[in-house]
Amino acid sequence: MEFIFEPEQPSALKVANSHQQFAIRRVYCVGRNYAAHAREMGSDPTRESPFFFCKPADGVLCAGLDQTIGLDYPGQTKNFHHEVELVVAIGKTGANIPVGEASGHVWGYAVGLDMTRRDLQGQMKEGGKPWEIGKAFDQSAPMGLLHPVSQTGLLDHAAIWLQVNGRDRQRSDINQMTWSVAEIIAHLSRYFILQPGDLIMTGTPEGVGAVVSGDEIEAGIDQLGTLRVTIK
Ligand code: MN
Repeated sequence: MEFIFEPEQPSALKVANSHQQFAIRRVYCVGRNYAAHAREMGSDPTRESPFFFCKPADGVLCAGLDQTIGLDYPGQTKNFHHEVELVVAIGKTGANIPVGEASGHVWGYAVGLDMTRRDLQGQMKEGGKPWEIGKAFDQSAPMGLLHPVSQTGLLDHAAIWLQVNGRDRQRSDINQMTWSVAEIIAHLSRYFILQPGDLIMTGTPEGVGAVVSGDEIEAGIDQLGTLRVTIK
């Protein structure tokens, strides 16, 4: 095959305790999946069906072991928010996956940040327009090392937290999700054929807020290590 220009290497997550990498195909994100966060965003946390949006795979920045990611403060915003989230990596093809079989499609887990230009997202929401400029920009998804489910076991409860400059901003447990990982996979696979390489960002707990240049973010989930990001 002759390409007009050399295709880019795929973005990839580094796998913990391994030299292997997980090439990223798509990044799906779940909106409002913790009741307390839905409330802080002005929504009613009823158990409406989960809804989804996407980020580009090349928007993922993967941290290496003990590495701090330097994140550029993006343009066109004055309200740049952190959202810590459990990232689920898909390892097996499937469509219309029953809830009871969903966990068999999980390859592993990571800590991720759904970085958000909140002011732009708000303007788009108001106008009933797509969220892309608020959510799907370059470097919008820093992530930590990927931990295989073969090592962690299935995660259904685990502390999830985020600090800025050493102070707590977000602290919850993934068992507070409105829709569980299995339910998310089942719903999402009705609309898209899930493939190995897909990532799902499963929503953020309450406590989202703004960061500015110079801020240091530390975010973690039990068993999945700590992700460190400095805002440039
Ligand atoms: Mn989010």
